[in-house]
Amino acid sequence: MRAVVWEAPGKLALAEVPDPAPGHGELVVQVGACGICGTDVHIADGEFPPTPYPIVPGHEFAGRVVALGDGVPAEWHEGARVAVDPSLFCGHCPACHAGRGNLCANWNAVGDTVDGAFAEYVRVPAANAYPIPDSVGDQEGALIEPLSCAVHGMRRLGPVVGDDVLVMGAGTMGLLLMQLLNRAGARSVSVVDRKASRLDAATATGATAVATDAADLDTSVFGVAVDATGAPAAIEAAFARLDRGARLLIFGVTSGDAEVSLSPFRIYNDEIQIIGSMAVLNSFGEAAGLMAAGAIDTAPLLGPPARLDEFGDALARVRAGEGVKVQVAPGR
Ligand SMILES: [Zn+2]
Ligand SMILES: [Zn+2]
Repeated sequence: MRAVVWEAPGKLALAEVPDPAPGHGELVVQVGACGICGTDVHIADGEFPPTPYPIVPGHEFAGRVVALGDGVPAEWHEGARVAVDPSLFCGHCPACHAGRGNLCANWNAVGDTVDGAFAEYVRVPAANAYPIPDSVGDQEGALIEPLSCAVHGMRRLGPVVGDDVLVMGAGTMGLLLMQLLNRAGARSVSVVDRKASRLDAATATGATAVATDAADLDTSVFGVAVDATGAPAAIEAAFARLDRGARLLIFGVTSGDAEVSLSPFRIYNDEIQIIGSMAVLNSFGEAAGLMAAGAIDTAPLLGPPARLDEFGDALARVRAGEGVKVQVAPGR
């Protein structure tokens, strides 16, 4: 099969590699669509420490089951359409035993540490596959993984009913979080992105207000702020607009050595909570259910998918912050 391979950081190849064969309890999925996310940029640059090279990247995907290994539950059959939770938790470390597999000491994931879905086929544990109905296309199916990260973020954040919420970042994650915040009863959800071109999609998917700078919003203080940029300056700007008693969700991925300057006096005196949210934790089924129910407006987030041999260009579009979700359709 054809696959995108990072032979080493910065060394990209479109290679012919052996077709994957399903092991015990595994499925092989013909990839319909696979999204590129910030983690893929870090993997490209050798800045995602768990990744070994060479690797076929790609962890946000949906497709069709084409082969079943032995020991796969009888409910699975060839032709089933699926989205796949890429998480591979070890199950035996203290975090896994505590039900916090996303913090697993031996964390692995399809497309991040083992071969993923920027390929015609990918091998996955059947336990990680979730059926999707025909009403959910492959591109929407490939949005279920980022949506499941947003669902986990919402759980970490807690109730938002009646809150004015500030979302920093109008990329895929900011817009998925914004839609969930709206559905969860926020009084308003304002979205800030330095790239004005991204704000149309925010407005189209339900943002109460949009701006390129938080200082330009009519609402001046927020009970909840969510950083979906990973940019230290955006986190500091969000912190500056927090109301007393507010919560700040750190959702975006900063570089590992980034630092922010926050007032501990304000955290103390205003009882501000700062909450982290990392990836997916038992939230994939809920995300698949939301997508199947049509609860998420996906059209403004998606564009035509790239071909596998256009991966390099597609990655460059992600780096440039063009469009919202950039995806690859390996069958094209
Ligand atoms: Zn991702
Ligand atoms: Zn573990």
